[in-house]
Amino acid sequence: MPSDSTSPNLLLPSSHFLGCPLSESKGCTMAEDHNAKDTLKPLVFRLHESVPKVVREVLMERGWSEFDEQEQDKSDWNLYWRNTPFHVTDHHNIKPWQRLNHYPETVKITRKDYLARNLKRMKGIYGSALYKFSPVAFIMPNDYVKFIAEYSKERQSQGRKSSYWICKPVNLSRGRGILIFQDIKDLIYDCVVIVQKYISNPLLISGYKWDLRLYVCVTSFCPLTIYTYEEGLVRFATEKFDLSSLDNVYAHLTNTSINKFGPSYKKDKVGIGRGCKWTFSKCRSYLCSRGVDDLLLWQRINNIVTLTLLAITPSVPLTHNCFELFGFDILIDDKFKPWLLEVNCSPALRLDCSIDATVKKGLLHDVIELLNYKQIDTLRQNKMARTKSSCASKQQQTECTTASPVQSLLEVAGRSFSKEAIVTRKAARAHPRKTLTSQLRERMNMPKPCFPSRAASNSKPILGTLHHVPVPGQDTQWLPTELCKNKLSIPPYFLTDQDKRPFPRIGDFVLIFPFNDAALQASRNGIDVKGIIQEIHKLMNEQLSRGIQKVKEKKDYLTIQKCL
Ligand code: ADP
Repeated sequence: MPSDSTSPNLLLPSSHFLGCPLSESKGCTMAEDHNAKDTLKPLVFRLHESVPKVVREVLMERGWSEFDEQEQDKSDWNLYWRNTPFHVTDHHNIKPWQRLNHYPETVKITRKDYLARNLKRMKGIYGSALYKFSPVAFIMPNDYVKFIAEYSKERQSQGRKSSYWICKPVNLSRGRGILIFQDIKDLIYDCVVIVQKYISNPLLISGYKWDLRLYVCVTSFCPLTIYTYEEGLVRFATEKFDLSSLDNVYAHLTNTSINKFGPSYKKDKVGIGRGCKWTFSKCRSYLCSRGVDDLLLWQRINNIVTLTLLAITPSVPLTHNCFELFGFDILIDDKFKPWLLEVNCSPALRLDCSIDATVKKGLLHDVIELLNYKQIDTLRQNKMARTKSSCASKQQQTECTTASPVQSLLEVAGRSFSKEAIVTRKAARAHPRKTLTSQLRERMNMPKPCFPSRAASNSKPILGTLHHVPVPGQDTQWLPTELCKNKLSIPPYFLTDQDKRPFPRIGDFVLIFPFNDAALQASRNGIDVKGIIQEIHKLMNEQLSRGIQKVKEKKDYLTIQKCL
């Protein structure tokens, strides 16, 4: 999606907040750079067997090499990617040069019943005005009585059309086991399900229902740091929307896994074409060509993402060097209201069509950029610990905001990388992502080597002491994020080296939280959910009044035009 003035980059902080790392990099000389090449090692990835092959492809394109369990030391890798959660010990044993692609406990929003429960709790605390973006839901069989009460109330209220409902097994995905009904006699289930209000007035394109698969990357829950991806997938149903045929999955469900087997999948459908996908960019130009200003819509979607993640942020255990790529499914109704349908962990990365290849490969490249690897990470060893081991016993931990020698080293090492990542974002787009020289590119993106003696000259703690050592017996216990204000033993990878703020944009990822200084402060030392909600309230009011103002200006303009 282009990053023009109408980009969905709506929770972007003001420019002074963004004060991004664009200042000159104090790099090394060409000669030093040349010497460095001799010592460069590739970054190393480790994949669980169920991970889609595009992840391997992208990493190989970038010049990474694959971890070999037989040949390599057990911590000789930089990225471990799984489709299932990591074991507690994987988190406890994490090293500063490593990243894991999951945070623990995110299931609290990625399983349908947990999501419904958590959003209901947030609604109870912070008011339904903020949390009215998710359709009313009942978890069955537990909420059966409540559901019957709601169902009967609606039926009895005169003149009100009875609602449609959708019943979804909580443990299944890809549209499996879903049932849509209007009459309770059609409700049948044999496992735990959620029964949710069916949005029966979706915004249609040429008569077809569609929803958005929005990619969201959380690089940290403490401090909360959220990016949304500007490009994404618009997923169409492949038969025309029709409330008189509720059992036609090709008309009511937008899952690719279902529609690619539909009779119309390969047909050239009027208005949407072949297959069942568009990119966000195509959808935005379609809306734009019909005079729709989608700015407010994207702002609202970003708010939904933040409000949803806030529901679990305080309870995500304190862990280092993780990130989580979520797939948010958003449906837009014919009043342009966005609804959150569900949140996916490990969103599908299979390449079913060329649109998938474009979007998902670009996404993965940008995810790797977000992980902010530096040259020192290629060493994959506690270099500093060896050289300064005498200091190790003196300083056990360091605060996450305190500059340490390792941080200093990373800072120096990272400057040119940071600058590169931000400044050359668009330039990078212009180059093909998969080239045989990608390893070289990866290296060129890296900073010049920094020598411990120089970088660490004025600091106290050392890398060995920064690494978290699991306490015996603590292997199965998590520290809640609220304890973030205590100590962090590995310097955060997701902050700029210069001002310790998150990068405002990396590739097509745009920072949506923190969106201003107040939000940053409220999430820095532990999480002040109430404070953040107040900030979001203010932001939403501003967004709304700007939206109303725009509509007014448009009306005035049209009136003037008519008078002329
Ligand atoms: P799954 O995990 O099985 O994909 P989802 O909750 O994503 O389950 O639902 C599958 C599809 O069903 C969605 O992509 C959407 O097209 C449709 N759907 C789900 N919930 C609703 C709803 N409340 N209103 C309208 N359509 C819905």
